[in-house]
Amino acid sequence: MKRIFYFNITYGCNSNCIFCYSHNTRHSGEPYNEMPVGQFFEYLNGNALSSDDRVIINGGEPFVHTDIEKLLGGLIPYGCEVLVYTNGRLAADFDLSRLNGNFRFVIPVHGYEEIHDRITGVKGSYGETLRGLKALVENTDCPVDVKLIVNHKLVSEDSDGARTIQAFENGILFNHAIHLTKMADTVVSQRNGCRTVTNGEASRLTRIFFDYFRKRQIKIKIFDNCIKSMEWMKDCRPEKYRDGIEVYFKDRNQYRVLSPAGKAPDCRKECPFADNCISAVDTYKVLEFFDNKLYENLE
Ligand code: SF4
Repeated sequence: MKRIFYFNITYGCNSNCIFCYSHNTRHSGEPYNEMPVGQFFEYLNGNALSSDDRVIINGGEPFVHTDIEKLLGGLIPYGCEVLVYTNGRLAADFDLSRLNGNFRFVIPVHGYEEIHDRITGVKGSYGETLRGLKALVENTDCPVDVKLIVNHKLVSEDSDGARTIQAFENGILFNHAIHLTKMADTVVSQRNGCRTVTNGEASRLTRIFFDYFRKRQIKIKIFDNCIKSMEWMKDCRPEKYRDGIEVYFKDRNQYRVLSPAGKAPDCRKECPFADNCISAVDTYKVLEFFDNKLYENLE
């Protein structure tokens, strides 16, 4: 059984994304409702954290947390896997060189510069994120993933993906995997009047990006996304991830056990791709493509 300890360590963030997943977050750039380091390790020690476990650090923006260096550094001796979901904008301001290969960073890119900045609501955020990616790749031994999120602006303003692909050609640095996912409808996206990205729109662009990264032999992870434009996947029988998953969510004020079952969308009922489709949010699994092989894996 894989144990995942999932933390929102702060609800402060320095971006203001128009589809933010967390409507509890404050976007002032100041720490807000953050989990004290003592409480963090007390909780993990109480659960006998071991090297077989995975810790997920999320927020808000983790690098807004006052003690992020202590928190990350303190996890090194446990030897567990650590995933940090960050917008990467502040990563270059910290010395993370002592972090080892157990620490993986996942950083979203929302398209080329202009669209990225419009999605985050912060002019200049694209440049800061690229700086953070570069610092992590060049100054640490950590795997660094980029998460390319197909959003409604990309669909209408970069319909053939060419400008986004050019941005990658111009140097969006990462060293491990590309995640291909789509913008979800959230409380915040609805408040901001964002229109839903349909399965057809998402899968069409996802196919373009998939083909681009496949040619470059980059590991690709697809999740919370539609694959129906990739005809060849219909007949694939990828190896399944067999281990069970337990997810324990914790922030400063609450603790709960999450169901990794996810909520399957209605379109699954009659879809010939349904067996391979990783379209449900919160399953913690991805469809992974590497070495010309498709398989299901833990995100
Ligand atoms: S079930 Fe089919 S239509 Fe629905 S998201 Fe998956 S691949 Fe797309």
